[in-house]
Amino acid sequence: MDPLHDDGTEHALRAVFDAAGPYLASLADRPVYSGSSEVKSLGGELPAVGSGAASVVDKLLSVGTSSATHSAGPRFFHFVTGGVTPAALAADWTVSLLDQNAFSRAASEFATSVETVALSWLTSLFGLPSSFGGALVGSATFANFTALGAATHWWASRHGVDVAAAGLAGLPRMPVFSGGYVHASARKALQMLGHGRESVSVHGSGRVDLSSLDRALASSGPAVVIANAGEVNAGDFDPLADLAALVSRHDAWLHVDGAFGLFAALSPRTAHLVAGLAQADSIACDGHKWLNVPYESGFAFLREPARLGAAFGMPGAPYLPGADSPRGGYGLLGPESSRRARSLPIWATLAAYGRSGYQAMVERHLDLAQELASLVDAAPDLERLAEVPLCIVCFRVRPPGVPESQLDDLNRRVGEALLDDGRVFAGTTVYEGRVALRPAIVNWRTTSRDVQLFVSVVRELAAALR
Ligand SMILES: *Cc1c(COP(=O)(O)O)cnc(C)c1O
Repeated sequence: MDPLHDDGTEHALRAVFDAAGPYLASLADRPVYSGSSEVKSLGGELPAVGSGAASVVDKLLSVGTSSATHSAGPRFFHFVTGGVTPAALAADWTVSLLDQNAFSRAASEFATSVETVALSWLTSLFGLPSSFGGALVGSATFANFTALGAATHWWASRHGVDVAAAGLAGLPRMPVFSGGYVHASARKALQMLGHGRESVSVHGSGRVDLSSLDRALASSGPAVVIANAGEVNAGDFDPLADLAALVSRHDAWLHVDGAFGLFAALSPRTAHLVAGLAQADSIACDGHKWLNVPYESGFAFLREPARLGAAFGMPGAPYLPGADSPRGGYGLLGPESSRRARSLPIWATLAAYGRSGYQAMVERHLDLAQELASLVDAAPDLERLAEVPLCIVCFRVRPPGVPESQLDDLNRRVGEALLDDGRVFAGTTVYEGRVALRPAIVNWRTTSRDVQLFVSVVRELAAALR
């Protein structure tokens, strides 16, 4: 069917709307996952003719609302996965309705202007000076990529090379330093940028070892330091202020990976964890985690945002505006060119809930993490493995009488059983050599009831596995 002859638009959109209410209402009680057997019905041969929007969207909704992982609900504690606020959800529908290309002002003055507002509200939310700027990207991986791309451009310029034009060939290896908390996605960014993921030299097994880093920087020449604000196993932080002071004594670029940890800035209870952030040269953060906007959403901030155009502009194509042209825009300030207007859900959720709404949500999550930690501490068959500075609780199952040598295996099987059971989701990790669970609480829907259910399901499954 030629889309020109498809009269199913209204039916299809109404079907999404009609499905949304019951689906969203079901999230509070349904399991996170109960199988995807129906998804097979979406396969088969590519239709030769096609059946039009109305029937196709009915089918997609029927399969999707049953087969999806209901990670938008309150009990998906795996990874660090946020949900979607009401304002962000409706604004994300609007993104597709308007189908803007947020590449440049020439393509969409509207999307470019909203992105400028969204970025300035985000920097204000995190307490950064208004001189910080950046670009919205698809994820914290891309935010790390964008920031480390700008860092690479800075570093090469210290060697007299414009790396955007000439590439890395002929340059020495770029020295990159971090502590033990460096995230796999920062390594992936370095791998994509041509430095290799093994280019990171790690100082310290957990938090960065400042004196060892100081010695390394003294002899490395210009270098890049990656600080970690919010480590994924237990939520710990590198000492940002001390690190910033140290880096300022050397010829080095300080990048902060704060994919979710940046939100510590929103509460006076945790703001000390990100003290010193404003001295960073670049910062990476996620929107689809603690901001609770839909995938794909991240942001990179730079202390000197003009550096992005030098690293990511595409000069020389006669039909394109330049990075600093009045018709230019964010497509020339980051890795993507054509891009969706991912600023709209960010703008809408910040406009709808404001600074105080986000502070309240973050503080509720801090309280829930402490509640979860207390439930773990009170249970004779559970053992907490780390402090809980933020929103992650790292613990393991440890029933009395089970020898240490069997605990890793037991905890691994509990992790698998949780995913098969589906009532609550969490993943395992290895923390200080021990297999552990690490539920993370960043979804606006999560309540005390969900945290209590999580602990009782873990204990029930662990008891059944022994
Ligand atoms: C999640 C995370 C990332 C990567 O984020 P994506 O959105 O999955 O690309 C990077 N760093 C840290 C610390 C994270 O928690």
